[in-house]
This record gives sequence, C-alpha cells and structure tokens, in this order.
Amino acid sequence: MFYRLPEFNYYKASTLREALELVDRLEDFKVIAGGTDLVMDLRIGRYKPRNIVDISEIKELDYIVDEGDYVRIGALAKLQNIMESPIVRTKAPVLAEAIYQMASWQIRNVATIGGNLCNASPAADTAPPLMVLEAKLKLVSKDGERIVPVTEFFLGPRKTVLKKNELLAEIIVPYEKDAGSSMIKLGRRSAFTLSIVAVATLVKVENGKFKDVRVALNSVAPKPVRARSVEEALKGKKVSLEAIEEASKFVVNDISPISDVRASAEYRREMSIILTRDSLLKSLERIGYKIEG
Ligand SMILES: Cc1cc2nc3c(=O)[nH]c(=O)nc-3n(C[C@H](O)[C@H](O)[C@H](O)COP(=O)(O)OP(=O)(O)OC[C@H]3O[C@@H](n4cnc5c(N)ncnc54)[C@H](O)[C@@H]3O)c2cc1C
Repeated sequence: MFYRLPEFNYYKASTLREALELVDRLEDFKVIAGGTDLVMDLRIGRYKPRNIVDISEIKELDYIVDEGDYVRIGALAKLQNIMESPIVRTKAPVLAEAIYQMASWQIRNVATIGGNLCNASPAADTAPPLMVLEAKLKLVSKDGERIVPVTEFFLGPRKTVLKKNELLAEIIVPYEKDAGSSMIKLGRRSAFTLSIVAVATLVKVENGKFKDVRVALNSVAPKPVRARSVEEALKGKKVSLEAIEEASKFVVNDISPISDVRASAEYRREMSIILTRDSLLKSLERIGYKIEG
C-alpha cells in the first residue's frame, strides 16, 4: 500500500501572488496545502503530477475573521484552529461540531479546510455544515476572483468547479442568528474514521412552525448533497415529531448511495433517514424545542 513518492519538481510559493503565477504558468501540477490527502494520493499513484506547488506557508490565506454578519475563513486555516476558534464556535457552531468528529488532533493540526473542500471526497466532513450554513467560496486566479456557493462547488468524486489556474482562497460563512444546528456522523467506529453517512441540519422556527430547514449529507452520493425533499416537506409545517419523522423519509429522494468497504447502500439509506430525524431533533433542542423522539 505504501509506495515511494513519485519524482516531481517542487515549487514553494510564499505569497498568494506567487502561487497564482505558478498555477497559471505550469502544466501538469498539483497544489499541496497540509498534504494529508495529497501525499497519500501520490503514494498510491492516484496522481502523478510532474510539478508540485506548495502553498502551505502562504500566511495571508490563514485566518478566521469575524465580520459581524458573516465569518471569513482563509483556505489555509487549520481544522484544529477553526474548531477551537471562539468566533466559529459562536457564529458557526455546526462547523466546529463537524470538525470535532474529524480525523485526530495530529491530523487536524496539519489539515486545512481548503484541502478538505478541494479534495472533493464524497465523505468530506466540512461540506455538510458549510452547505447548511450556505457558505460561499472565493476562488481566485491571476485574472481575478469569483464567488461560488459551496452547494455548487462539487461536481463529483474529486471534481470541483475550480479551473486549472484557480485556487480556493476563502470560505465566507453567514452568521445564522436564531438557528439551531447539528451534525451527526456515523462511522465504523466512534472516532478517527471516515463517515458511512453524516447529516448536518439547521432549523429556524417562528410561531411554532418551521421557518427554515436545511439538511445536507455526505457519503451517500458522488458528492455531498442538500436534501431538498426533506426541507420542502417541513417548511411552514407545525413543529412535531410526526412531521419530522414523515419528512425524514424523503431523504432517500436526494441521495444515491453505493455499497463499499464501509457499508452497504441499503444500510446507508436506512441510516440517512434515522440520522436526518435525529439531527433535526437535536437542532430543535438547541433552540429550546425539546421533542421526545
Ligand atoms: C488519518 C486520516 C484521517 C482523516 N480523517 C478525515 C475525516 O474524518 N473526515 C474528512 O473529511 N477527512 C479526513 N481526512 C482527510 C484529510 O485530512 C482532509 O480532507 C484535510 O482537510 C485535507 O486538507 P489538506 O490541507 O491536508 O489537503 P491536501 O492534501 O494538501 O490537498 C487536498 C487536495 O486539495 C487541493 N487543494 C488544497 N488546498 C487547495 C486550495 N487552497 N486551492 C485549490 N486546491 C487546493 C490539493 O491539490 C489536493 O488535491 C483524513 C486523513 C487522514 C490521513
């Protein structure tokens, strides 16, 4: 399993500008941030790039800034720093909750949020929380920048809308006031594992009715997905266990799980329903609606 790293030319960028010039000029390259995905992929021969562009020490892409109504997170912010950030814990707690369930302390201290998104694994754990928060991604190139909703970023396993000469620079996370949110991850063991399925939910309630409902899952489709069927079934409905249980069943319309080494498609479908229900109940509890499930 552990093969030697292939040979490549190594370029280290110390500024974003240098990195953008390199990715514009070079052909056949991969960018490396924390390397926790990429080094493994190089060793197993998934990628054999002629060039590696190291962006890991570009200080200007490592930050967490509170802008009041939203939080800006640099693509090179480390997962552990995001998880521990009082800003994230207050304004995007579901992201901190998701990262708490990722990898190990050692990996989280090296791995970046940008790497987790750009690697575009169907099991990427920062995707569901960012999807329910309706985060936006700032993609930059020598030619300028564009903003893409995270829900439109993933195209399939290891495929994103990033163009050859673009880098992910920033994640813009809206502060959802008065919302309850939660992320539940099911793996083959309780920690240090990839998900069999993970569900993030966010709810807002007004006058006892669902004002907003957002649900996103990973590991049950070629890319992380929003469960629009569940969301539509609940919006405007009175908050009740019956409504939640009925709507959670619709999640099967939004997913297309496969069987793999971690679980069967059938198990993933069943658990998606159960975890959607449980996560919705947990989100509600966090804004004061305790419903016995
Ligand atoms: C033991 C172990 C456990 C793990 N557990 C989990 C887990 O529980 N949940 C989970 O989701 N992941 C897990 N991972 C995967 C990995 O740690 C994360 O995906 C991590 O966030 C990747 O970040 P990185 O900085 O290391 O990315 P890298 O490996 O450096 O890069 C990953 C990919 O993204 C590209 N890239 C990186 N940054 C940018 C950028 N700014 N712009 C454009 N492209 C970019 C690279 O070219 C590469 O293709 C685990 C990995 C290991 C080794």
